[in-house]
Amino acid sequence: MLLHMSIIQVSGLHKAYGGRKAVDGVSFAVEEGEIFGILGPNGAGKSTTVECVEGLRRPDSGSVRVAGYDPATDRGPLTRILGAQLQDSELQPKITVREALELYAACCPEPADWHALAERLGLTDRLRTRFAKLSGGQKQRLFIALALIGNPRIVVLDELTTGLDPRARRDTWQLVEDVRDSGVTVLLVTHFMEEAQRLCDRIALLDKGRVTALDTPAGLIGRTRSGMAISFRPSAPLDTRPLADLPSVTSVKEDDGRIVVDGTDETVHALLSFLAGQKITARQLRITEATLDDAYLDLTGPDA
Ligand code: ADP
Repeated sequence: MLLHMSIIQVSGLHKAYGGRKAVDGVSFAVEEGEIFGILGPNGAGKSTTVECVEGLRRPDSGSVRVAGYDPATDRGPLTRILGAQLQDSELQPKITVREALELYAACCPEPADWHALAERLGLTDRLRTRFAKLSGGQKQRLFIALALIGNPRIVVLDELTTGLDPRARRDTWQLVEDVRDSGVTVLLVTHFMEEAQRLCDRIALLDKGRVTALDTPAGLIGRTRSGMAISFRPSAPLDTRPLADLPSVTSVKEDDGRIVVDGTDETVHALLSFLAGQKITARQLRITEATLDDAYLDLTGPDA
């Protein structure tokens, strides 16, 4: 029998700093070829978890396996399959884009063609620019290029779009999707909901050192108290009491002639056919879907 092995497997991970728990029993598995998000408030334990995956920190207990290797003891083979994004401070301000690409390529046993990588990441016309003179978006593109230069199977991107303007952020998202589509597994640390919702195939929501939920973005949103809010003005007087009995309804409110029904997808259809049966039209109908923001607030603690 062939046993399925996830490319990253974290089980019962614990890590404390001076007796203070930073990661308190985290488990998750990342499948090859997905963008797996680690989402959570500041101090949730995201970086510590990812640093254990990268082999930069040694867990107090629990196990971490990356493509079968233990990052704490197998750093050598790990660096050949895992590419990590550098932090801003880790590049000399005076180094040019070309020098950085050449230098990092020279350090890899099987480097990617850095010219092609620069082309793919839109850096070709910046090759002679010094790092300090790059815009925020260009720096991030360079970091992605450097993370990919060793032809890794897995790339770790930590708070990639912090400090970027909305356009640069969207461009960066497209690049991350391109990276995934080229077959590389992406472990993405973020505290931006929109980013996680747009990019991640699955998300582990971390809070106070624990995984509070692990699901697809749609799955997390589906767990919120209100999946959908349906609001309308009835074309004729309506007895709202029967609305509470429609499928998946969680609440019915009336506000200044506008009726707001919280429920799910299923509620929308049932409500509209109920109204049709009463020969009532839903005027100014608005259907608002819950977002990952709502799920996050529901699933993380109040002092997050
Ligand atoms: P996140 O990435 O979600 O912000 P971190 O993993 O950085 O979370 O931090 C989790 C907790 O561990 C926080 O309370 C943080 O203050 C603490 N912490 C992180 N790194 C260290 C360290 N090197 N020494 C002491 N405490 C640390």
